[in-house]
Amino acid sequence: MIERTLVLVKPDGVQRGLIGEIIARFEQRGLKIVGIKMVWIDEKFSKKHYSAHVGKKMYPLLEKFITSAPVVAIAVEGIHAVELARKVAGSTEPKTAPIGTIRGDYAHVSYDYADAKQISVKNLLHASGNKEEAEQEVGLWFSETELYEYETSHDRHVL
Ligand code: GDP
Ligand code: MG
Repeated sequence: MIERTLVLVKPDGVQRGLIGEIIARFEQRGLKIVGIKMVWIDEKFSKKHYSAHVGKKMYPLLEKFITSAPVVAIAVEGIHAVELARKVAGSTEPKTAPIGTIRGDYAHVSYDYADAKQISVKNLLHASGNKEEAEQEVGLWFSETELYEYETSHDRHVL
């Protein structure tokens, strides 16, 4: 039941100075950061990370956005971490993301607006969509030596 998942603070989150706020949302509910780094990815790496989206109409917009500035990659671990990270992030479209989620609290853009403007929906972060995606993405972004096992107070007092 203990899972690892990938969170990325996307270029808009980094450039808006929201790295700390976003990380805090995961830390506050006891998810453990087991890997973290800043990376400026290129088009080739974008195609690996978003392999499921390559070929879709929106992909070129997504690639332009995700390669426009550095991102902060975070491997987080916890009980049902994949589902929990998606819940913390909120739904893809900030307009419909519930208040209390990162996307609902720090953005409000709609699909219609982003499509009309021909830009990717700026929604601050990425969180792996399911367990298979999470395993694949943590492996893509982090080598084994960049992932750490250590004890937190949550291991002792919360879990
Ligand atoms: P996520 O898993 O919630 O990030 O959403 P997806 O995997 O479906 O899409 C990847 C990213 O592409 C999203 O986070 C948005 O930044 C962008 N995106 C998704 N759907 C659309 C769309 O319909 N229009 C535009 N402009 N961008 C989109
Ligand atoms: Mg996705």
